[in-house]
Amino acid sequence: MKILVTGGAGFIGSAVLRHIINHTENSVVNLDKLTYAGNLESLISISNDARYAFERVDICDRAGVERVFKEHQPDIVMHLAAESHVDRSIEGPSAFIETNVIGTYTLLEVSKLYWAGLDAERRERFRFHHISTDEVYGDLENPEDLFTEQTPYAPSSPYSASKASSDHLVRAWHRTYGLPVIVTNCSNNYGPYHFPEKLIPLMILNALEGKALPVYGDGSQVRDWLYVEDHARALYLVATEGVVGETYNIGGHNEKKNIEVVKTLCDLLDELCPQSQFNPHFSLVKYVQDRPGHDKRYAIDATKIKNELGWTPQETFESGIRKTVEWYLANSDWVEHVKSGSYQQWVTQQYGE
Ligand code: NAD
Repeated sequence: MKILVTGGAGFIGSAVLRHIINHTENSVVNLDKLTYAGNLESLISISNDARYAFERVDICDRAGVERVFKEHQPDIVMHLAAESHVDRSIEGPSAFIETNVIGTYTLLEVSKLYWAGLDAERRERFRFHHISTDEVYGDLENPEDLFTEQTPYAPSSPYSASKASSDHLVRAWHRTYGLPVIVTNCSNNYGPYHFPEKLIPLMILNALEGKALPVYGDGSQVRDWLYVEDHARALYLVATEGVVGETYNIGGHNEKKNIEVVKTLCDLLDELCPQSQFNPHFSLVKYVQDRPGHDKRYAIDATKIKNELGWTPQETFESGIRKTVEWYLANSDWVEHVKSGSYQQWVTQQYGE
């Protein structure tokens, strides 16, 4: 099969591409605009494979997307391209509406026409897999509550509202036009190749340099963490074996307060870098003003994907977070290249010097 992955130069998309090339016989096309978050260096290990192709295209560019479909004739579309950072969506929502809403709409329209023109056998096999977030559900009040596939949507941020919009579009294209779609909603991912504006890589890299570790509010917000390679495995399974029209929640069963995550990272750095002049790294924590509209708690009920497709995460939080810290310590080249001017400007604007 030929699998078209949008946003394949991003954090999760690159893990999906590495998974497909390393663990299956399929070919891939990586369609990515290469925004600040796209990094082809995350794909060096597979980009020379004959089954890998790259197309630098914006998903809002209909003619460009049509050309890619025509040339590559995909059997499955896995749609991950998005603006994905909540803080950036609060500062500037426009790119989120463009890419996440208009871009998804454009991709749906191109997919619909392409799918309608396929022969019967390929039309039957075609899938449009939309990758979304648990943030569309808003946040949870009671400690025992979990997001299920039936939880009503209540997005809080411009990011989650734009993702919720795109989820609705995808389901409408199924109901109205019969496009064979599947939707997944996943909890927070972490792992190698994560752009250092997000909590875990930001903390690791700041701690290594002895910079402040900015923690929003009192750090009590709870997130459900999933190792990115477990997510990539789940996504491939859903794209190839999931039931058309269904939604699957994907989560790691690893609920942690942000401050606990930071403490774990600091303890690991203390252990793995015993000579560091910044030990104990936890002393670098600096509490900063909370993000507006900050959701208190997310937690996923991943029973459906477990029961119906047999997926469970392979990493515990302890094993995954250790692998992640070790990866950042061993891959300083990747980190250095990512820390471009625009990244630095953003961090300064967001967190001050
Ligand atoms: P990311 O920001 O690391 O990567 C996004 C990729 O999309 C980048 O390579 C970027 O260049 C590309 N892109 C952005 N706009 C584009 C456009 N207009 N046209 C083509 N390409 C474009 O994001 P991620 O963390 O890998 O997330 C991937 C998907 O998974 C997103 O849809 C996100 O909403 C969803 N998701 C992420 C998480 C998480 O914890 N990171 C959790 C659940 C769901």
